[in-house]
Amino acid sequence: MGIEAVTGEILLLFMGQECAELHAAMACDIGVRNGKIVELGDSSLWGDAKKVVDASGKYVIPGMLDSHIHIASPGPFPSLDNYHNGTVAATYGGTTCVIDFTFLCEGETPRMAMNRKLKEAKGNSVLDYTFHPCITSADEQSFQEIGEMMDEGFPAVKVFTVYRNSLMLEAAVEFAHVTTGEIEPLLKQAGQNGVKVYVETCPHYLTLSDEEYEREDGCKYVCNPPVRSKKERETLWKLVENGKVSVINSDHTDFSYAQKLVYKDDYSRIPGGLPTAETRGMVLFSEGVVKKRISMERFVEVMSANVAKLMGLYPKKGVIRPGGDADIAVIDPNRKYRNSQKDMHMQTDYSPYEGMELTGAVTDTIVRGNLIIENGVYRDTGFRGELLKCKKPVLDI
Ligand SMILES: [Zn+2]
Repeated sequence: MGIEAVTGEILLLFMGQECAELHAAMACDIGVRNGKIVELGDSSLWGDAKKVVDASGKYVIPGMLDSHIHIASPGPFPSLDNYHNGTVAATYGGTTCVIDFTFLCEGETPRMAMNRKLKEAKGNSVLDYTFHPCITSADEQSFQEIGEMMDEGFPAVKVFTVYRNSLMLEAAVEFAHVTTGEIEPLLKQAGQNGVKVYVETCPHYLTLSDEEYEREDGCKYVCNPPVRSKKERETLWKLVENGKVSVINSDHTDFSYAQKLVYKDDYSRIPGGLPTAETRGMVLFSEGVVKKRISMERFVEVMSANVAKLMGLYPKKGVIRPGGDADIAVIDPNRKYRNSQKDMHMQTDYSPYEGMELTGAVTDTIVRGNLIIENGVYRDTGFRGELLKCKKPVLDI
């Protein structure tokens, strides 16, 4: 039937919550045609495939979405990456879709910043992409432009907490980069008041601690908010385990050690952010799934399905089922190695996880049916990602 690609002997397939009977792991093959998943089942019945990815003994999951990432970030300390090498690095980590922020440069309106980012990404990104518009000035033109962009499919904006009945956001809210489990009573209170609250955190808040700041090279770890104590880290893990954390993004910014060193003795002026686009998935897999803190299904929820749902991209993204985009990450759960900057593909010259022992590696990443990472190596086939238009979020997560 003209299947273009078939992945064989799948060990885990996450079908999403709408298909209760297929919610968890199952063994089957996945048929892909024209960038879409078209078949699930026994590939011996499908005829010859043009290309077969052998995933024997591996996990096959929906491609991971990163809805909090900063690529080619402007400012006094511009980040080192661009839309090509930045998205290639993310793809090495199993990410298949990124949602960046359109930070405004001096003199720009929200629309101008959006147009600049659209130009940067078009023809360069190897992943599908979209943006969160940003607003920094409370003037009429900015509000009008933001409103227009929301209608155009860029629905997630910095939130107003004032101007009830006009600008204040009354629907659901997602708190970005939560660093402590001490938020739990507040979440409970919000739930009792009927407010839908979704929580994001990042792998560095779950795996690093404030002891990093005592190191000679502690400036490498400066991010906003900062990483917390080991005790608070444990409370945060609890929220991931019990489902209170909805999504785990990277908050990646590609700064070098030299950029961090410029103001190394003045915490407030050190550019905040860690280079983590490539490591997001496997650090969480190793520390979470391998160490049995969370199930594989929970891993897929926070890295892929829930992100797609909250960003209005589900079920096009975030699930493996016929009709969805063929965005797939293949994970070898047994590979053991030490993290090292020299093995990675981001533009920075350091890794916040240097020397950390990890188990689990992304071997293949498929973006809309295109095998971008094959056996751990990037293949530039000329495929480029497209701009996504987001729909309404799915809030039943
Ligand atoms: Zn950020």
